[in-house]
Amino acid sequence: MDKLCLDDLRPDQLRGKTALVRVDFNVPMGEGGEIADDTRITSALPTIRFLIDHGVRAVLVSHLGRPEGKWDTSMSLSPVARRLEERLGSEVLFVDVPLDGETRKRIDGYADRNVFLLENIRFYPGEESNDPGFSEILARLGDFYVNDAFGTAHRAHASTAGVTDFLSPAVSGKLMEWELEALPRALAFHEKPYVAIVGGGKIKGKIDMIRYLSMRVDAILIGGAMANTFFAARKYPVGSSKLDKKRIDTARDLIKEAEETGCKLLLPQDCVVTERLEADADRKVVNADGIPDGWMAVDIGPLTVETFREWILSARTIVWNGPMGVFEVEPFSRGTMEIAKLVAEATRKGSFSLLGGGDSIAALRKAGLEGDISHVSTGGGAVLEYLAGKVLPGVEALTEREGYRNGGVR
Ligand code: ADP
Ligand code: MG
Repeated sequence: MDKLCLDDLRPDQLRGKTALVRVDFNVPMGEGGEIADDTRITSALPTIRFLIDHGVRAVLVSHLGRPEGKWDTSMSLSPVARRLEERLGSEVLFVDVPLDGETRKRIDGYADRNVFLLENIRFYPGEESNDPGFSEILARLGDFYVNDAFGTAHRAHASTAGVTDFLSPAVSGKLMEWELEALPRALAFHEKPYVAIVGGGKIKGKIDMIRYLSMRVDAILIGGAMANTFFAARKYPVGSSKLDKKRIDTARDLIKEAEETGCKLLLPQDCVVTERLEADADRKVVNADGIPDGWMAVDIGPLTVETFREWILSARTIVWNGPMGVFEVEPFSRGTMEIAKLVAEATRKGSFSLLGGGDSIAALRKAGLEGDISHVSTGGGAVLEYLAGKVLPGVEALTEREGYRNGGVR
């Protein structure tokens, strides 16, 4: 995966040019339509600043929410344009009229502007269907293409993939480049012992990742609601725990497959159980095979933390996705917080750690340990697909460094 990045471009390939830039401004919006968290906006600033500093005009493209091909102003990127302007400290021209063959001419007409943001690209049905006609219209808006939207790289859409059929070179932006440098340390270049920690709400969407990782890692430490499905596969009673009933057989297969590949699949030995998902509800610690009727497992227990500790502290590579329990409710956050501390400790001692997943990041923030992990990935779904060994279309579509050189362009 040796793809071109911004630094590969010569000054004459940059100065005076216009870049079509795919960013991920799919920010969480609050009830009143305000931006709840602008991390995704600030994360794109290094790329935008690089372009401005090198004399490039940037036409930014993003989606927000799921308007499904219809013009729906409740999902307009207009508030994002204003926030970007504040964060960037320079003007951003919001292009709120539908794209057509004349859009480029209009953009070129604003000779004194450097940054443009198009209206939500998913207002166009051609975006998600990766329509070639729509890709071509998009491609006309730039002289070259930059993809900085790692979070959307697992989608083959017009603005993430199709557009590169009509526009080259296609290079990674700064955020994308940072992800693509770190991620191979989880798959291609990992040091052993290698431990994966997998938890979270559902086993669905994580099966392929567990399967792929089990061929590489020495141990998979399982926690979260996912563990309950594995308990059921072992025929333990699970009380009223959150369970993925349809995937009990899959869990059984995963246990068997891990045994065959020599990967240790460690389930919690004990759990914190409660009758209600509330901070003031009764709770107790029980053995994993002793969850009482009417009680639900909401966190890993202290014995499990002890066992996981040894694996985590002896690991040289650690991948973590999914909280160990319902960390949002204080008394049930302990297991997740303890594991976060252990991963941070291993990292401080020189191990490489990678954490991905929206809720996992929230848990890490709650632990105040965001800066103590080697790489906190910005791509939720994209990182799961990467760790499942799948090709990311948005990465695949970027120009190959080798072929580019051989083509004599440099
Ligand atoms: P990520 O976003 O990091 O990939 P997930 O979305 O898979 O993580 O899972 C996070 C959610 O799982 C959290 O909201 C958490 O409350 C929930 N969760 C974790 N453990 C349990 C459990 N034992 N029972 C119910 N929900 C759980
Ligand atoms: Mg989540």
